[in-house]
Amino acid sequence: MDQKEFLVFALSKMSECSVCKTELYSGNIVKLEERQGEKLALCRKCAKLDHLEILNRGNAKLTRLASNYSSFKAIILRWSRSRNAMSAREYWWNLRQ
Ligand SMILES: [Zn+2]
Repeated sequence: MDQKEFLVFALSKMSECSVCKTELYSGNIVKLEERQGEKLALCRKCAKLDHLEILNRGNAKLTRLASNYSSFKAIILRWSRSRNAMSAREYWWNLRQ
């Protein structure tokens, strides 16, 4: 199946959505967009990602089901302070098409 892959980010500090000005907290999922050299955070709603379900990667059966039936995959990047680097940790699948 043809799957789209999106990169999203888990915030490591407070921020606000650059579109609707909603306050965003550490751990919130955002999409980052670059406009005129500036990195802007978009909340899930403004990034049109609020219909997505987060699946825990620990559930192998559910992950396999999702990978068979969903057409959308997102990789959540988190800033790891201990490693001082971005790490991809969770996968997000859209089960409702
Ligand atoms: Zn927003």
